[in-house]
Amino acid sequence: MEKTPEKVWNNCLKFIQDNISEQNFETWFQPIRPIKLKQNILTVEVPSKFFYEWLEENYIDLIKATIKKELGKEGKLLYNIIVNNNNSQSISLPSINRKINANPEHYLPSGAVEKKFKNPFIIPGLKKVQINSQLNINYSFENFIEGSCNRLARSAGFAVAQKPAGTSFNPLLIYGGVGLGKTHLAHAIGIKAKEVHPEKTVLYVSAEKFTQQFIESIRNNTTNDFSHFYQMIDILIIDDVQFFSSKEKTQDIFFHIFNHLHQNNKQIILTSDRAPVDLTGMEQRLLSRFKWGLSADLQQPDLETRIAILKKKIQIDGIDITNDVIEYLAYSITTNIRELEGALISLLAQASLNKKEISIALAREMIDRFVKNTTREVSIDYIQKVVCDYFELSIDTLKSKTRKRNIVQARQLAMYFSKQLTKSSLANIGARCGGKDHATVLHACKTVNNLVDTDKDFRLYVQELEKKFTLP
Ligand code: ADP
Ligand code: MG
Repeated sequence: MEKTPEKVWNNCLKFIQDNISEQNFETWFQPIRPIKLKQNILTVEVPSKFFYEWLEENYIDLIKATIKKELGKEGKLLYNIIVNNNNSQSISLPSINRKINANPEHYLPSGAVEKKFKNPFIIPGLKKVQINSQLNINYSFENFIEGSCNRLARSAGFAVAQKPAGTSFNPLLIYGGVGLGKTHLAHAIGIKAKEVHPEKTVLYVSAEKFTQQFIESIRNNTTNDFSHFYQMIDILIIDDVQFFSSKEKTQDIFFHIFNHLHQNNKQIILTSDRAPVDLTGMEQRLLSRFKWGLSADLQQPDLETRIAILKKKIQIDGIDITNDVIEYLAYSITTNIRELEGALISLLAQASLNKKEISIALAREMIDRFVKNTTREVSIDYIQKVVCDYFELSIDTLKSKTRKRNIVQARQLAMYFSKQLTKSSLANIGARCGGKDHATVLHACKTVNNLVDTDKDFRLYVQELEKKFTLP
């Protein structure tokens, strides 16, 4: 039976597959293509020089054994390395008799040495290659407020920073909606890791920048340098990996970098604006790798966390703002921390430009004008707070079962305004007001309507409260 390169290589693969893990097999052997068989020399094509080095350093014995089995004692393996993806120019490198760890540059035919990959992250002029980690020092753990919305992600991130690649959180994938702190947390991990392990190389890069660099490297024939650069990072942080969606070549190179780092005990941290299951346009093999470690989500912050974040921000910036205003902002903007901060910044700008005092009135005006796109709906929490402040009651009292007349009235007003000003159902309004049922809320709304018509004092309450909610 005639031997073809495909047949020989397939037999080799069977043998190799039985001797290494499936994961390693997929990563390192499946991409190899048999291309030529001449006498007893088999030539295979590998995707990069790095790939070749890796095979020779890690699998030389296995390869030797299988080649001997298939092609006899004199059997030899030659590698063709794709130097340039565009014109698939290749370099041949011998295997087996090559001394392990020998510098493969020696084998490169003159003229085939690639142009140097100019990496923008490398600080020029330093002897030892030093990398600018691209970290923003303001995004530290110290400035990251912990809440139930981020507890898991934060503590996993903290653990990873203490012991990079030393936890089962590798990769650590942080996901969540926009403006919920993914980028902040990713930087915090990098900053802490550098602090604890100054000898380690940390790099933060957005998936978008990674993609641009990769495209640039294709244009300059420097993709090998590109992947070498990334393969020497100890802690690699890639922000917004959803950007890789439907970018097959970028996913491909990232896949190889990922494998290399992971196998060499390097830590990978990823962020995504959606859960792994919702990452469409992402190759299955990448997705399955994302699941190796831990996926932790960031959720919308609760009220206390929003207030704490604003207070932290004010403290960092050394500004003086009353609690009322902070609470008003925190009550009004609920879904996005970036918008919450944006509102605070606009408020400060407004106040200083127009030399106005920072008051609730100004905050309300500003939110109406600038934060139109947020859920500008008044929240039930806010309504309850305003009603309680007005009647000088505690929220707990409002939500209690007390039947005292003034408290019952306050409670009914809170329910009435919740019905008027929010889209919540009667059942939900009741539940949020101390576990009352929908009939109670309906009754409250009717009572308020009746009392407005018949009771002068009560009408005044309603009018004054309406002003506080700035009804249109
Ligand atoms: P994402 O990357 O998820 O879109 P960012 O990390 O850019 O969000 O966060 C938006 C803003 O909110 C940033 O200014 C960040 O500092 C701030 N922020 C988010 N979460 C927190 C937090 N837990 N504590 C303090 N600031 C936070
Ligand atoms: Mg971000």
